[in-house]
Amino acid sequence: MPVHDVIILGSGPAGLTAAIYAARADLHPVVIAGRQSGGQLMLTSEVENFPGFPEGVMGPELMDRMRQQAEKFGAEFVDDDASAVDFSERPLTVIAEDIKYEARSVIIATGASARWLGLPSEARLMGRGVSSCATCDGFFFRNKDVVVVGGGDTALEEAIFLTKFARSVTMIHRRKELRGSKIMQDRAQNNPKIRFVWDSVVCDVLGSDHVQGVKIENLHNKQTSELTVDGVFVAIGYTPNTKILEGQVELDEKGYVKVNDQSRTNVEGVFVAGDVEDYHYRQAITAAGAGCRAAMDAEVYIEGVA
Ligand code: FAD
Ligand code: NAP
Repeated sequence: MPVHDVIILGSGPAGLTAAIYAARADLHPVVIAGRQSGGQLMLTSEVENFPGFPEGVMGPELMDRMRQQAEKFGAEFVDDDASAVDFSERPLTVIAEDIKYEARSVIIATGASARWLGLPSEARLMGRGVSSCATCDGFFFRNKDVVVVGGGDTALEEAIFLTKFARSVTMIHRRKELRGSKIMQDRAQNNPKIRFVWDSVVCDVLGSDHVQGVKIENLHNKQTSELTVDGVFVAIGYTPNTKILEGQVELDEKGYVKVNDQSRTNVEGVFVAGDVEDYHYRQAITAAGAGCRAAMDAEVYIEGVA
């Protein structure tokens, strides 16, 4: 097996942008695309905020176009998850499809997964009123009624953001106290469009082809009630996809890859981009920008070691 210049882990906006840049720099990247090839945007319908698409673009179409662009410049794809990596020796190694790939540099772009409630109705109506991203989808809920599930900073931030568009925002939290910071709690509690339903969970999302309401269960008295809404924003946290990186590269206390300088990790030759290191912006365009940076940093690194 050859020692590749660069292996890219992940094929979301970060990984595919890194692949386009690395391929055009003649680094012949191998992209271990992951089982969810295309990443999180494969789970959504219309993307309205990616520059260059004034009419909007369907998430899967955008990702398909990015992949085609990377392939056009010669990136190779392996459609599987990497099952293990070893960054302790040179060359760096990555295992996928039981094959050991060797490389001088690796770009980690494995993203993060929104946590979901796990209801069949939630999965069925995803992109049809169920969302995990108010910045992405809030615009579609002008003068509509929505719920936000969760009590952390993400949920509070989503709820406050949604009040710009929605007629009403109901936050449904499983306890009586919010987890989010005091300042965000105050902002939400003082916002006249936001109301709270405490000690409760969403036990069903109602609607056949779009969201028409939610069924809520009070965890104390077990009583259920229904609320008519057009949108459900699930904001119960994210999990970075870093399981295979534990012990190989420095992670922060939440499990995200730590960035040392530009896109460098603590391991020489290992770079990182996108939601796997960024839990603040979580946007396709910021992930794509980070992928570009990582590929350019890898190129400089490869020139130095070649
Ligand atoms: P991801 O898109 O998460 O991609 C990660 C990739 O890594 C995937 O291909 C995955 O299969 C792969 N992977 C994971 N583990 C492994 C492994 N072990 N080995 C190999 N590969 C692996 N943002 C916007 O800007 N606009 C929007 O309208 C918008 N809408 C959204 C709608 C939804 C429903 C969701 C969930 C997100 C939305 N976002 C939107 C956010 C946006 O999708 C993310 O910020 C962006 O996809 C992050 O890109 P990424 O490349 O870092 O990671
Ligand atoms: P988080 O702090 O872990 O909060 C998750 C929330 O979802 C909690 O309220 C939790 O309830 C609830 N929850 C979890 N699983 C649930 C389930 N199955 N059903 C119903 N509710 C569930 O996650 P986060 O809000 O995404 O924040 C992550 C980190 O990013 C935090 O450190 C946060 O401060 C930070 N952040 C900061 C900002 C900001 O400063 N502007 C914005 C966003 C995020 P419990 O409270 O009962 O556990």
